[in-house]
Amino acid sequence: MDIGFIGLGNMGGPMALNLLKAGHNLTVYDLSANAVAPVTDAGATAVNSVAEVAAADPAIIITMLPASSHVKAVYLDRDGLLARVRPRVLLIDASTIDPITAREVAGAAGAQGNAMLDAPVSGGTGGAVAGTLTFMVGGEGEDFERARPVLEAMGKKAIHCGPSGNGQVAKVSNNMLLAISMIGVAEAMSLGVGLGMDPKVLAEVLNTSTGRCWSSDTYNPFPGVQENVPASRGYTGGFGTDLMVKDLGLATEAARHIRQPVVLGALAQQLYQGFSAQGNGALDFSAIIRNYRKEQE
Ligand code: NAD
Repeated sequence: MDIGFIGLGNMGGPMALNLLKAGHNLTVYDLSANAVAPVTDAGATAVNSVAEVAAADPAIIITMLPASSHVKAVYLDRDGLLARVRPRVLLIDASTIDPITAREVAGAAGAQGNAMLDAPVSGGTGGAVAGTLTFMVGGEGEDFERARPVLEAMGKKAIHCGPSGNGQVAKVSNNMLLAISMIGVAEAMSLGVGLGMDPKVLAEVLNTSTGRCWSSDTYNPFPGVQENVPASRGYTGGFGTDLMVKDLGLATEAARHIRQPVVLGALAQQLYQGFSAQGNGALDFSAIIRNYRKEQE
């Protein structure tokens, strides 16, 4: 299939490579030449603007951009996708943005005859490389079915979450819970170790007791408890604190929109924001445990 791909960063780059591996033809664009090179080396055709991606007339165009402002610019600018794309081309935005903007852009696309799906992912850069991402998809069921084979070339699972914007709703809800659970595990691990427990033994207890969660059993923030997690390599790699701050901003903003409190979500946002302000924005978000304890590594 002919596919357009815009945004070839840490996530978009490896996702595009997996589409090439699955035999699709790709026309790609990114503002950064460095981001484009590995994808053209693998066989994609690079063009020089968003409009040229639309002009190549692919059946599907995928975008993987940093935040809402970039998505608005790429789709809604005078020379953007919606101004140039032919009718019936399916548009898929895999960026993590706020659900309100996702619905606004999809509404504008739909009004001119282009179906659009919001399809944010979980699984991180490792999942993007391995092709094991989970897609949370908002939009019409028939469009989801049209997209499914392409999404499955980049991920292991695609879940239809309901109408437009619901993919983003699922994503911000999940990441808010993850942010909160990570702080909870950091606090509990620090307390137990501070009171004299061996961290590995404490983790073993948590992980077979009612406190168990992904943050405790798969991504434990305490250094040395697990191999191959950011906590055991100085909190490098993984999911950056600043990305978590961004996602918590999306969650609290969406909550404001429906006038619902997210008390722990807002507290988590402030804790991560403060942690970032101390110069830790590039560290994995599990490094928030440093708010509780001095490392003796
Ligand atoms: P990134 O910054 O590495 O990549 C974004 C790319 O978009 C960059 O290469 C940039 O040059 C390009 N870009 C920006 N504006 C553009 C424009 N107008 N036209 C063309 N290209 C443009 O970001 P990333 O880590 O790949 O993340 C992308 C999205 O995926 C974000 O919304 C992020 O929240 C989400 N996400 C990231 C992760 C992760 O672990 N990195 C995990 C899940 C979801």
